[in-house]
Amino acid sequence: MNREPVTRELFDDVMVPNYAPGQIIPVRGEGSRIWDQEGREYVDLQGGIAVTCLGHSHPGLIGALEEQANKIWHLSNVMTNEPALRLARSLCELTFAERVFFANSGAEANEAAFKLARRYAWEHTGPQKHEIISFRNSFHGRTLFTVSVGGQPKYLEGFEPAPGGIHHAEYNNLDSVKALISKEKTCAVVVEPIQGEGGVMPGDQAFLEGLRALCDEHDALLVFDEVQSGVGRTGHLYAYEMYGVTPDILTSAKGLGGGFPVAAMLTTAKVAASLGVGTHGSTYGGNALACAVAQKVIDTVSQPDILRGVKSRSDRLRKGMMDIGERYGVFREVRGAGLLLGCVLTDAWAGRAKDFLNAGLDEGVMVLIAGANVVRLAPSLIIPEHDIDDALARFDRAVSKLVAG
Ligand SMILES: *Cc1c(COP(=O)(O)O)cnc(C)c1O
Repeated sequence: MNREPVTRELFDDVMVPNYAPGQIIPVRGEGSRIWDQEGREYVDLQGGIAVTCLGHSHPGLIGALEEQANKIWHLSNVMTNEPALRLARSLCELTFAERVFFANSGAEANEAAFKLARRYAWEHTGPQKHEIISFRNSFHGRTLFTVSVGGQPKYLEGFEPAPGGIHHAEYNNLDSVKALISKEKTCAVVVEPIQGEGGVMPGDQAFLEGLRALCDEHDALLVFDEVQSGVGRTGHLYAYEMYGVTPDILTSAKGLGGGFPVAAMLTTAKVAASLGVGTHGSTYGGNALACAVAQKVIDTVSQPDILRGVKSRSDRLRKGMMDIGERYGVFREVRGAGLLLGCVLTDAWAGRAKDFLNAGLDEGVMVLIAGANVVRLAPSLIIPEHDIDDALARFDRAVSKLVAG
């Protein structure tokens, strides 16, 4: 029964219809190549949406997983475990953080961050200081709290009433934050240093610096959601280093496990103190297998040569996409940082990002979209140059066919 062939059609029969997956079903991956059920090969510029940061079947990750699988998989939080302790120590050594909380997804790391921000203000000031300022077009996950803090109302439709005390300012517009922030009421400002789902929109240097100053002035915590921008994606371990703006709380997920579900909330000792015993928790958070894999990811990605490699790969990919954009008049701009790139469609192609994704699949290259107007790329941080060139050649063919109609 279990071994009967599975097809895309089965999805509609057995799955909740909240996704609309493509027709192909990938079954195997190696590096930046993927093969589907029919044995067709693709170059992977999706990276599982900025997750498989070391590609597929990375020998180091397989080794870490196997080694830990033979020791111990899971302990409740009644016990701590070696992989979780080691990983937390590494994250504290490599970042601003002094304390770490582990979760299993970006949404859960953000949920912890938002709860902590409220609890911290509640403890230090009072219950009236509970307001959270976030940004239109931002994305922070799909739990009711995180989707409410997120700035895309369509994701909240039909799920109200939403948690209260959340305000949305305009991204890269400091004045819109000034109009909302107050010492009495604001507990946190939550921002993606680079908006991912919202269209690969980088924060301006002055904007992020300004948020830091505003938070200091109003005793609010600055929360960086680095679920997408973190773990080497920008050519820095975390994007906050690129900006030289240090948050009070940072959330990490996606790339952190390289394909294994794990997330972390990083913060200072002072702020962490507000999540005392019993205030928050997660059964799987800090799972030994997950932390062992994440340790290997962090050890690998934090190597200077890997981070430098992200920059050179970024230049190559960005240039190639800009050439394609010019050749066919399809992209107005290629923006983003490192290997999180957004190719913004020209007016003539506005709203048609999905067509580019599908055309790519037909030619054997997997790209992402971010909204209807941006083709998004988030490949492995160690994608071989040859695979970049191959992907560009395939995408060029895809676009030429699309343009020809
Ligand atoms: C993907 C994403 C999330 C949500 O992560 P999940 O693991 O899907 O819960 C949150 N914030 C940002 C910036 C993301 O890109």
